[in-house]
Amino acid sequence: MEIFDVLGIGFGPANIAVAAANEELGANLKIRFFEKNKTSAWQVGMQFGQSDIQNHPLRDLVTPRNPRSAYSFTNFLHTKGRLYEFLNLGKTYALRTEYSQYIEWVAEHFADSVSYEAAVRSVECVRIDGQPLYKLTTANGSVFHGRALIAAPGRTPHIPAPFDQLDSPALIHLNDFIPTLAKQRGKPLGKVAVVGGSQSAVEILLHLADIAPDSEVYGFSRAFGYRMKDASPFTGEVYFPEFVDTYYAGTSAQKKRLDRDLRYTNYSAADADVLDALYLKIYQQKLAGQQKTVIVRSSNILAAQDLGPDGVRISYSSIESEGVTDSDFDLVILATGFKNLGAAEGEEKFPAILADVVQFSATDADGVIQINKDYSIVMKEGLPHAPCYLNGLCENSHGMGDAGSFSLLALRSAVIVNGLREQLAEQAPRALEAKAA
Ligand SMILES: Cc1cc2nc3c(=O)[nH]c(=O)nc-3n(C[C@H](O)[C@H](O)[C@H](O)COP(=O)(O)OP(=O)(O)OC[C@H]3O[C@@H](n4cnc5c(N)ncnc54)[C@H](O)[C@@H]3O)c2cc1C
Repeated sequence: MEIFDVLGIGFGPANIAVAAANEELGANLKIRFFEKNKTSAWQVGMQFGQSDIQNHPLRDLVTPRNPRSAYSFTNFLHTKGRLYEFLNLGKTYALRTEYSQYIEWVAEHFADSVSYEAAVRSVECVRIDGQPLYKLTTANGSVFHGRALIAAPGRTPHIPAPFDQLDSPALIHLNDFIPTLAKQRGKPLGKVAVVGGSQSAVEILLHLADIAPDSEVYGFSRAFGYRMKDASPFTGEVYFPEFVDTYYAGTSAQKKRLDRDLRYTNYSAADADVLDALYLKIYQQKLAGQQKTVIVRSSNILAAQDLGPDGVRISYSSIESEGVTDSDFDLVILATGFKNLGAAEGEEKFPAILADVVQFSATDADGVIQINKDYSIVMKEGLPHAPCYLNGLCENSHGMGDAGSFSLLALRSAVIVNGLREQLAEQAPRALEAKAA
């Protein structure tokens, strides 16, 4: 039986950065990654021609860790013969489609250590010859063993109440937006609701106005208007590595205060360019006497009902209408974000894929798993265990830059690789002792 040093769940940006760090730091850990999709294409559910990225392109998979890396965005542009043209665009932010190509390009360098179309179905903690190991089973029943685990499956989509009670094909999360449009094969979309006040909500409204100009599209916003992202360079320091030290050391009350202060740097807010474009689009619709995009301001969605083939009924109140309004939609798109670790509404205590690992992990009073500074799960004292790292899921312990952003991904990958290197070196003699006993 082959035992890998490390098994990696997911081969998106976070674990691709680990593959690069493993090579460039000379750690040479034998890692096997498992990716459920056919490729490592990035955010395929939200790929529109005009959308750009929100991180500076040099905060890529490697540059902040190793500016001389061959896996940088700059080297990607150079290799593709587009460096001068890209610079000539004068755009600070690269197109999302191009960044996805960059991520796939880096991933291809590590193809030998990845199983694609291999969704991880379960992870179990086992002991073989006295050595604690992870046993990973993929959807097709293949089994792999590893001395450590890195979980980087991305965050779980947040489906808020009352939609969490529905099981309707007419209800989708933003992750499934483009694949859902593709399945329509040009058939009219009908009446559409877009729920949420995020960057994604505004982008989806804009895209629908372009590609489905005859569809009535309602944007449900809890706020009076879509908010502008807080782009102050002062608050932008939340994405600095030093912020992780401040946040990790903070008390629960300090963390809450920082979360409140910094929320609009990344959540429930959109960039000025898409806000201006959407405002102009609606103005143009009004000029033409055909307003199809409607913003339901200061709204509360009170109930949602599955109407079978007729879609979903939403009952809502809004500052601009009396009482409760019922409206039927052929498609409801939830641009409502993702779950962080935690015990509050919209959070999860641990990633579902780690249910078996949690029996070994320390939890707080609410049952939420605890994370060390090096992104490993804090394990219970005295229980032999194999190390397990969370890569890209730790906003509640490490702060805003951890899960929803590229900014710290390159540096985090070095912390994880170095942590693994140390833990596995310590573990090896213990495993030999256990085997001898
Ligand atoms: C629409 C959108 C746009 C964004 N744009 C930006 C941006 O411009 N800049 C920025 O800094 N951040 C952006 N983000 C945040 C972004 O999600 C992260 O920066 C980045 O994608 C995180 O990488 P990740 O590898 O942690 O997660 P993901 O990108 O989600 O990758 C996780 C991977 O794991 C795979 N996977 C999941 N479960 C399993 C399983 N059970 N078995 C096998 N494989 C599995 C998935 O298929 C996926 O490939 C954006 C997010 C969204 C939703």
